[in-house]
Amino acid sequence: MEQLLREIEKEPKSLEQMALKLSEEAGETSQAVLSYLKASGSEYKQLGINDVKEECVDVILVSLAMFYKLAESEEELEGFISQKLNKWESKLIK
Ligand SMILES: [Mg+2]
Repeated sequence: MEQLLREIEKEPKSLEQMALKLSEEAGETSQAVLSYLKASGSEYKQLGINDVKEECVDVILVSLAMFYKLAESEEELEGFISQKLNKWESKLIK
């Protein structure tokens, strides 16, 4: 995580550009899933489960980079994750 933070400090993209990049990576994830599942019109790309996993990681990294552009504390991230996980868990229990 510390290496990621050092890299983010060098990131020249604006917040808006990072948000667009996140959408791009989400789109690439969808593209990989469609190809992996051999959806009509997408199978020719020949993407597999590892491509899906890689795109998931791209989404995570861009999201983290955006988060740390706004907040530099790891504790803040942990607080939000804990809060969101609790909310998610309470919905799953219902
Ligand atoms: Mg990607």
